[in-house]
Amino acid sequence: MPTKTPLLDHLPEDWPGLLSSVKPVPAYRARQVARWVFRHNASEWEAMSDLPEDLRRAWAQRWDLSLPALLDEQVSRDGTRKLLLGLSDGARIEAVLIPRADRATLCVSSQVGCAIGCRFCRTADMGLVRNLTPGEVLGQIRIANRLLAERPFRDGSVDGVESPLLNRVNHIVFMGMGEPLANFDTLVRALKILTAPDGFALSPRRITVSTSGLAGRIRDLGESGIPVNLAVSLSAPTESLRGTLMPINVHHPIRAILDACRTYPLRNRQRITFEYVLLGGVNDSPDQSRQLARLLAPFRSKVNLIPFNPYQGSPFVRPEPERVLRFQSILLEKGVTATIRTTRGEDILGACGQLALDPALPSQKESSNWKTIDCSMPV
Ligand code: SAH
Ligand code: SF4
Repeated sequence: MPTKTPLLDHLPEDWPGLLSSVKPVPAYRARQVARWVFRHNASEWEAMSDLPEDLRRAWAQRWDLSLPALLDEQVSRDGTRKLLLGLSDGARIEAVLIPRADRATLCVSSQVGCAIGCRFCRTADMGLVRNLTPGEVLGQIRIANRLLAERPFRDGSVDGVESPLLNRVNHIVFMGMGEPLANFDTLVRALKILTAPDGFALSPRRITVSTSGLAGRIRDLGESGIPVNLAVSLSAPTESLRGTLMPINVHHPIRAILDACRTYPLRNRQRITFEYVLLGGVNDSPDQSRQLARLLAPFRSKVNLIPFNPYQGSPFVRPEPERVLRFQSILLEKGVTATIRTTRGEDILGACGQLALDPALPSQKESSNWKTIDCSMPV
């Protein structure tokens, strides 16, 4: 008997052929399955009550629809939910669900660990364990959709207007564990399934891919024809400083990254986001802000300043709020749009891209020094 493989590793347009390989079926049967999976969050063949039982049984032998295991869920006072997910080989990843106003943003992981080695990032300490599969990337969204369907969330009232009930993920940011462009084929396949009308049917405008700056892959993403938002983690205004903070700068220097960004197709009013982790006394001076402004002046861009979130063993500190504001105001004076990323889910240490429950690391629940970022910032 052939082994069972994840159906969600495949594009919905291929499902008719794949499902027919078990037993020939008309294409509408595959559309029914897709509706169950993408609209009704089905993860069992038995749930698909309008499909003949013999078909469901035959498909169940061949195609796997299962979700990652939800090992832990922490809910913050502000509604942020951090999900610890277990994969079929025992690997663990995190996804963070951030409901705010009319947005239910999910921060997803693209790899177990990360090979890039940024000096200020805790995920770097893990090294790369392995790439995620498309089905595992999408599994994070499927599980979050299931949780929201079971327990819809309303984000209080914003400016006196009641927020809508959120019962489905409607924004996705690839800002969790891992470097999405280093797992490029998986990323592109996951993006295609996310945006396919017979898949999750999400607008690419609601999806942001954050990268440490793999220049060639930025070009490839631009050429993929999936017009998602691009966020590039710059974190330094000069080659030499970036080289000390992000070893990837040796192979992908700022100038090569910016050249690649120039090729990235932008629609009307779309801008590239440059993320900048502010490290006290390292990259947060007024002069460095002016250098950054000069560097980004030619771009349709927006800077997202992320005050460093410290963790045990890190040599860096978070700058004082006044210094963060000064850095921002210089950018604004120079005509560069700049926002400061606010912290969400701090009480549950709701970080994207941080491994929990790794015996080699201090327990996430105990640690007050956790990278905490708000992935729901509009980019
Ligand atoms: N690998 C991708 C996406 C995941 S990291 C990337 O690097 O872009 C998401 C964001 O978190 C990046 O902008 C990264 O610079 C930032 N980050 C990493 N460690 C951080 C820390 N300790 N404090 C604040 N932001 C951090
Ligand atoms: Fe990897 Fe991003 Fe962390 Fe750098 S900041 S180590 S690229 S996850």
